[in-house]
Amino acid sequence: MFENLSERLSGILDKLTRRGALSEADVGEAMREVRRALIEADVALDVVRSFTDKVRNRAVGHEVLRSVTPGQQVIKIVHDQLVEMLGSTARPIDLEAPAPVCIMMVGLQGSGKTTTTAKIGKRLGDRHKAKTLLASLDTRRPAAQEQLRVLGEQNSIDTLPIVVGQTPTQIAERAMTAGRLGGYDVVILDTAGRTHIDEPLMLEMAEIKKISKPHEILLVADALTGQDAVNLAKSFDQRVGITGIVLTRMDGDGRGGAALSMRAVTGKPIKLVGTGEKADALEDFDPARIAGRILGMGDIVALVERAAQDFDAKKAADMAAKMKKGQFDLDDLADQLRQMKKLGGMKGIMGMLPGMGKMKGQLDGFDEKVFDRQIAIVQSMTPKERRKPELLAASRKRRVATGSGTRVEDVNKLLKMHRQMADMMKAMGKKKGGLLGGLGSM
Ligand code: GDP
Repeated sequence: MFENLSERLSGILDKLTRRGALSEADVGEAMREVRRALIEADVALDVVRSFTDKVRNRAVGHEVLRSVTPGQQVIKIVHDQLVEMLGSTARPIDLEAPAPVCIMMVGLQGSGKTTTTAKIGKRLGDRHKAKTLLASLDTRRPAAQEQLRVLGEQNSIDTLPIVVGQTPTQIAERAMTAGRLGGYDVVILDTAGRTHIDEPLMLEMAEIKKISKPHEILLVADALTGQDAVNLAKSFDQRVGITGIVLTRMDGDGRGGAALSMRAVTGKPIKLVGTGEKADALEDFDPARIAGRILGMGDIVALVERAAQDFDAKKAADMAAKMKKGQFDLDDLADQLRQMKKLGGMKGIMGMLPGMGKMKGQLDGFDEKVFDRQIAIVQSMTPKERRKPELLAASRKRRVATGSGTRVEDVNKLLKMHRQMADMMKAMGKKKGGLLGGLGSM
């Protein structure tokens, strides 16, 4: 699924992460490439335009997180926008209705409707322990009812006995009665398809809907038909009213245009996707997971999320003010150390900074616990000592070392590091930002 698009997008966004500062022009250029990639993935033009506009607006007006690079922030914005385009949250099949809950399956011939009916029946039984009855209403294709019966038998799902000569509406009525009398939780109606949408088909669907009062009407559409699938969903929704979409043959769809446009164009959620011919080849459509799969940059997204959570604008401003006055004390140092720890330690931070990848190897012997020890040293001091470390006499240093489980030389090392940092910060003068701001590139 989505292989082509995924490859293109990672290529484009990868370039951004390797740069330091980003100008509006850089973001603009990247968005032009993203636009091209989406169009090649067969995403509807309107959807593409709105997508890139939103990303650009968010990127321009975005709060700058100092602990991540601009490229990383753009990736997070693209990710969030993808999630929104795909429908934000997963929308599973809704069974919240009096039993038997009716699910009506609609769609064109060959879209995978019968296979999907059986797949859903199996899933409801396996996952929800729902007693499910399947009924084929396809009286036009001679083998259709038999096909569903066989699938039911193979997967231990009950099917409505076939009565030759009944009309689709008669079968629907019989299925709902059997569902009630048989104590079924769910009845799934597999309606007849056509090669294309026509008036008799729509009338038949409306009739069946009236009789069975379905709680869900799911359109089954073939992902490989791209924008045709999207237009089909629009037509079915206008004529019959659908509650969701199942996209089949996603296993063969490297472009993903239908999946990406469906929600934005039709306003209806994709609930499930078919990923193969087997009865268990059915997956939930979870926008966050799918966006993650498309971008393949979960680490960066998680990093930016963490940084955003930790980002405290007031604290940052206070810190900047202190630095300007050369008042960077040991409590501030401990704060910075804690922040570095949260961001995955030295290795985590180095790996995420552009151009620092190579240096990661040099950190092989680096003991990440050093942050914990340094924080412990600061915590063993009195508040007064933390503000004025020069007060620490030799005897106090020994006490602090014992209190923090370290050695006097560790205490001295920390004090030296603090002095150097405080001097550096004073020298940087009016420049804003903390330790991470200094390491980063914004
Ligand atoms: P219907 O006419 O809409 O009922 O379509 P069928 O259920 O008979 O499916 C038509 C063909 O598509 C069958 O060979 C199925 O095995 C196949 N099929 C259905 N769903 C999928 C899917 O998600 N992936 C793949 N690869 N094949 C599928």
